[in-house]
Amino acid sequence: MTRPQRPPKSAAPDPSNIDTTQRPFVLIWEVTQACHLACNHCRADANPLRHPEELTTEEGKRLLDQASEFGPGQLVVLSGGDPLTRPDLTELVEYGTKQGLRMTLTPSGTTSLTPETVSQLGDAGIKRLALSLDGGSASAHDSFRGVDGSFEQTVQAARAARDAGIPLQINTTVCAQTVDELPALRDLVADLGAVLWSVFFLVPVGRGRVLDPLTPDHAEEVMEWLSAVSDDAPFGVKTTEAPHYRRVSIQQRRDSIDAPSNDGIGRRLGISAGDGFAFVSHTGELFPSGFLPKSVGNVRDGGLVEGYRESELFRALRDRDNLRGKCGSCEFRHICGGSRSRAYAHTGDPHASDPLCAYVPEGYTGPMPTGRASSD
Ligand code: SF4
Repeated sequence: MTRPQRPPKSAAPDPSNIDTTQRPFVLIWEVTQACHLACNHCRADANPLRHPEELTTEEGKRLLDQASEFGPGQLVVLSGGDPLTRPDLTELVEYGTKQGLRMTLTPSGTTSLTPETVSQLGDAGIKRLALSLDGGSASAHDSFRGVDGSFEQTVQAARAARDAGIPLQINTTVCAQTVDELPALRDLVADLGAVLWSVFFLVPVGRGRVLDPLTPDHAEEVMEWLSAVSDDAPFGVKTTEAPHYRRVSIQQRRDSIDAPSNDGIGRRLGISAGDGFAFVSHTGELFPSGFLPKSVGNVRDGGLVEGYRESELFRALRDRDNLRGKCGSCEFRHICGGSRSRAYAHTGDPHASDPLCAYVPEGYTGPMPTGRASSD
């Protein structure tokens, strides 16, 4: 059988030239909350059924039209739930690709994720596949994900992505229950030929409330370890909801002229909720991040670009002088600023200090962040 020709590559904009007051570096669209896994940490509180008010195919296409107004090569991540529960997924990927968007996908490790599906998505124009692995073995991963066989499905899909020439990203959730798996995961990420390892530091929302986050000191140790891994690994390393990784990396390289300016695959450092990052929920609500559920409007009304550029919340989040407490006094606030989502989850104030960070700025005598876990 003759393979259909892959769509042409949409040019990636130069990350250092992206003005994050005008466009997000990453736009996430949660295409559905439906998922057949039952992950312990699920932000979306996913269940097997699609929501009746989920954006329809036509509404989804209008959203992608709006996304293309940000400029050529806008990165769009289709997330969930499990995007593969939408029968129109390939159509949406093809449509977005035709609009000049760089379409990427974060499917769940289920029986739907076959090598054939991966290949079809590649033919539709997928620029990257991001798969979740939270344990270096089937038993560790499957118990965290709540379904036997998820590890094998995920590894099989990762190999299929490599065979199909689709760049692979591995996402890992780090919390007290998974942290000991990190060395095995590092080896697995290398073995699978991934281009990027994205390590998500738990934010207590959705089902993630039942898991234990790391203490600040333990998180600091993990970030130092990740920074060392990134020096030698054949893949890039980034953190999600832990921008203090930038501070840790810079502190470790202080005497080096090679301070990192991107995350190893050209993604600029310094993006955070509402500042280079935006999230559209399955019902079309626009949030600064999937972990910061304060809506600034619904994209059904056509307000994606204006909501990102002009809404009071997004503008306030981009101004690091609005930060309070320890983060507000910190000399690293412009390259870090802390996780706004975690601050919001703990205090209801998106400008409060991030309780996961162990760093105390010199001379700071104010209160420590609310929700700060005690040290090990
Ligand atoms: S105190 Fe806040 S801004 Fe400073 S490094 Fe920690 S999280 Fe980042």
